[in-house]
Amino acid sequence: MQILLMGPPGAGKGTQAAQLVKELGIPHISTGDMFRAAVKEGTELGKKAKACMDAGQLVPDEITIGIVRERLAKADCKQGFLLDGFPRTLEQAEALGRTLEELESRLDHVINITVPAEDLVARITGRRICRACGATYHVSFNPSSKKDRCDACDGELYQRNDDQEATVKSRLDVYEAQTRPLVNYYQDRGVYAEIDGRQDIDKVLADILKTLRGA
Ligand code: ADP
Ligand code: ADP
Ligand code: ZN
Repeated sequence: MQILLMGPPGAGKGTQAAQLVKELGIPHISTGDMFRAAVKEGTELGKKAKACMDAGQLVPDEITIGIVRERLAKADCKQGFLLDGFPRTLEQAEALGRTLEELESRLDHVINITVPAEDLVARITGRRICRACGATYHVSFNPSSKKDRCDACDGELYQRNDDQEATVKSRLDVYEAQTRPLVNYYQDRGVYAEIDGRQDIDKVLADILKTLRGA
């Protein structure tokens, strides 16, 4: 199954993606995770990406499209994949369409997790990530029982650089200007569904699975 998970920063894409790929046995393709891995490795790509991410801006289309094209061509994507955080511009959406055509593939589902703008700042600034396994927590909405350490692996929890309040505003503006137009783009293509992302994490997951299973 080929799935695209959309939604503003903080909507819960990463949280849901982690559960969905476990459930469905398909690879999770997150451009944000790929850029953070490149930053950690200190590659040329990482250096370019870091400057954009820290400024709350998008990484240029040319770079982003290139890494996704390469990733989708790998053998493990033949059985399906879950895209999270890509595409984020119309140009990326068009490029994705062309890439899938070349691979004789297509999107089965576009799932948009909706959360009102006024809830997103609290979600993003309270987000904490496990340094060891990448699990996502929230200081109030989804805390680890071990407070500053990961429930799953006891790793240290940290706050992403770009999750500070100063950067969040610009990320939300970028979403409105560059990414929200994709809602209409995919609505017009008929594989689109909206899920209410204000519900509990488990209920959001159940709703997504219901949509994927056509129930
Ligand atoms: P995204 O990948 O869309 O940016 P995340 O999955 O990282 O979003 O979630 C953003 C923050 O909100 C995280 O701290 C996460 O724990 C929390 N969160 C995710 N889903 C929910 C939910 N349904 N209700 C409350 N908080 C949530
Ligand atoms: P969130 O869901 O909280 O916005 P992500 O982890 O998806 O966070 O993305 C973090 C940052 O990585 C973005 O703010 C942007 O700088 C960069 N990024 C991720 N995906 C893309 C993309 N498709 N196009 C351009 N930049 C991206
Ligand atoms: Zn962990």
